[in-house]
Parts: sequence; structure tokens; C-alpha cells
Amino acid sequence: MCIFCKIVQREIPSHIIYEDESTLAFLDISPSTFGHTLVIPKKHYDTIYDVDQPTLHSLISSIQKVSKHIKNKTGCKGINIIQNNEEMAGQTVFHIHFHIIPRHEKNDFVIQYSENSTISLQEVYDLLK
Ligand code: AMP
Ligand code: ZN
Repeated sequence: MCIFCKIVQREIPSHIIYEDESTLAFLDISPSTFGHTLVIPKKHYDTIYDVDQPTLHSLISSIQKVSKHIKNKTGCKGINIIQNNEEMAGQTVFHIHFHIIPRHEKNDFVIQYSENSTISLQEVYDLLK
């Protein structure tokens, strides 16, 4: 079973901020910006090439809901939606996922949070759950 399927099954811990019948949204474990969230289908598909149409529609609907929620809660000034397919494009987890990356200031996306960042995932979770 893949790592995101294990998150769906609650076999490994995650910070889930939104869930419905067919999709799940949880905090990225290595956030690029404050509030970086992943949206996935509960059913396993490797990439955008494989996912079926009803699931794709559910995903984009969840992405919109979660994006509005993140904007309301964090007061971010913008949001990037990013989705990588295949190794060449930077995909590292082969269960389709969409990155929701809130933008708080100019060029904040290039700054990776370090291990000893003062902002913990728990603090982000407390805000977004
Ligand atoms: P990608 O490069 O598009 O495949 O992105 C995979 C993302 O999954 C990366 O941003 C990782 O930080 C994130 N990730 C990997 N394992 C976990 C996990 N257990 N919980 C949350 N996010 C994860
Ligand atoms: Zn999976």
C-alpha cells in the first residue's frame, strides 16, 4: 500500500484538515509555505493520466473549498495549485495529489521551511482543522 493510501486508512499519522466521501486534504509534511496542503482522492491512482472523471470533479471541488478555507484562515495574499506527474516533472509520491500552496509574501515559495522552523505543523493544524 502506498504512503498516501496509508494516510487514508489512518495507518500513519497526518494532519487532516478536510475530508469527504472521495477526497482528503492534509498538511504537507515538508511545507514550502505556511499552510501548504495536499489534496488527494481516497482511491489510489498514480497520476493525472489514470484518474477517472467523477473523481477528478470531486478533487477540483475539494481543492476550491480547501483553498477558500486556507485563504480565510491564514489571510494569505495568493494561492498556487501545483500537480506533478512522473519523475521527470518532480513527482515523488505516486498517488495523485494536488499541492495547495498559500503565498504570504513575494518569493516566499522558494524559501523552504527548515527543520527548526519556529512554526510547527501542529500550529498550522490548530488554525486550519
Ligand atoms: P510531489 O513531489 O508532487 O510528489 O510531492 C509529494 C509531497 O508529499 C512532498 O511535498 C512531500 O513533502 C509530501 N509528503 C511525503 N510524505 C508525506 C507524509 N507522510 N505526510 C504528508 N506529506 C507528505
Ligand atoms: Zn495510494
